[in-house]
Amino acid sequence: MIKVVISGTATDIGKTWVATRVIEHLKGANVEVAARKPAQSFNPGDAITDAHLLSKASGEPIEEVCAVQRWYEVAMAPPMAATVLGRPTFTITDLVAETAPGPSGGVMLIEGAGGPLSPIASDGDTADLARAHAADLVILVADAGLGTINAVRLSALAFHGFRVIVVLNRFDTSDDLHRRNRAWLEGLGFEVCIDPREVALEIQGHLAAHLEA
Ligand SMILES: [Mg+2]
Repeated sequence: MIKVVISGTATDIGKTWVATRVIEHLKGANVEVAARKPAQSFNPGDAITDAHLLSKASGEPIEEVCAVQRWYEVAMAPPMAATVLGRPTFTITDLVAETAPGPSGGVMLIEGAGGPLSPIASDGDTADLARAHAADLVILVADAGLGTINAVRLSALAFHGFRVIVVLNRFDTSDDLHRRNRAWLEGLGFEVCIDPREVALEIQGHLAAHLEA
């Protein structure tokens, strides 16, 4: 199994959307996929959370995607939401220990919370979580437009040492700035994808190499 961490240059940048599409493409290619959301916070009125969307895409029970004790109905970073709700604090080690096992020959997709350095536990962020899981690959979801080069470069620093694939979400091939941002990032040495299908193919390639090794 390979572990793929999905992060984003900011919150609400499209991590879950990209994750669900990637899962669909992988499943379409007969790759076994587990989706994990180690902790999630949301608005109290939200009927549909990330765990719902990921569970629907992967076909797993929702409590395997996100442990029931890690749902926080306050729109704040999970450890902050836990404090506000009067719930126990939790660590990166707790989140890793609670992660339901994934398919041995497949892919575990782990969606972080917020951006790379946003708190996801009392003692760490998504980058720490990626290290604790010894993730094989990091998917960094970014916008395609103005400001993305700075956001991608800063976010990628947090994942130093990992293979990072950048996804320019909402990429419009007719938009000159989007095309130039992609080319500039590639010129800096980034691997850049512009749609979830491409990401799924890269993950399949990584998985194949992993299973051969
Ligand atoms: Mg999300």
